Amino acid sequence: MILALVPMRDLLDRACEKGIAVGAFSVGNMEMVMGAVKAAQELETPIILQIAEVRLKNSPLELMGPMMISAAENADIDIAVHLDHGLKPETVAQALDIGFSSVMFDGSLLALEKNIETVKNIVKLASDYDATVEAELGIVGGNEGEGKQHKILCTDPEDAKHFCDETGVDALAVAIGNAHGNYPVLPELRFDVLEEIHKRVSTPLVLHGGTGISDEQFRKAISLGIRKINIATASFDNLAAYAKAYCANKDKANYFELSAAEVEGVYQNVKRHIKVFSFMD
Ligand SMILES: [Zn+2]
Repeated sequence: MILALVPMRDLLDRACEKGIAVGAFSVGNMEMVMGAVKAAQELETPIILQIAEVRLKNSPLELMGPMMISAAENADIDIAVHLDHGLKPETVAQALDIGFSSVMFDGSLLALEKNIETVKNIVKLASDYDATVEAELGIVGGNEGEGKQHKILCTDPEDAKHFCDETGVDALAVAIGNAHGNYPVLPELRFDVLEEIHKRVSTPLVLHGGTGISDEQFRKAISLGIRKINIATASFDNLAAYAKAYCANKDKANYFELSAAEVEGVYQNVKRHIKVFSFMD
């Protein structure tokens, strides 16, 4: 058996060398894990499997975590397993204990110095596990499923430099007009802000809220230092659409066919995004 669970920083380093971004795909059940891994293997492209803390109500960490790790270990392509938007240090610690190769601590709503102090402690903790750490600065719009809408506040480039220097974090999520969930219209991303951050910071940058951003915008963002792109809503929506279409055509729905439709919905969405992020045609 090839063990393919890798630290996320390995994938980010390779993405830097190639000038591409790694897709980070959110999963909430076994079918989503299977669909994402199938696409990665077929395109022979590493991915990140991730789950956000707010999703653990539906998909408990103690069930999802071991499944995600096992999927990575059994894949014939390198995969990092990541906790997205860790909100409590205890959840981050739990993910590391389960064997996640990467964690995000989201202190973006904290004051800058408090965010720095907390992330420093997470970096120290994660180093015991040789795990990668992602943090966030500025405020990404929308919400990660907790209900309240956040107003976008772009990352300040000088703050980003100070933050990365102080914390030694491996990856930094930036706010450049992006938002979680579905955009009502194509967002206007602040590439000028991204460029200023990229000039000051050598840390790989992360784009959240990837659902609804155009292929051209993705590729422009990658050319300005984005090395990880999060896709959640597009996979959840495509799974639901494939399941709905399957059921709509049947008098009596069959569980096994429904399960296969869910895998297919996620597979198609992940495949499409991997191609864009890797500059495949
Ligand atoms: Zn996010």
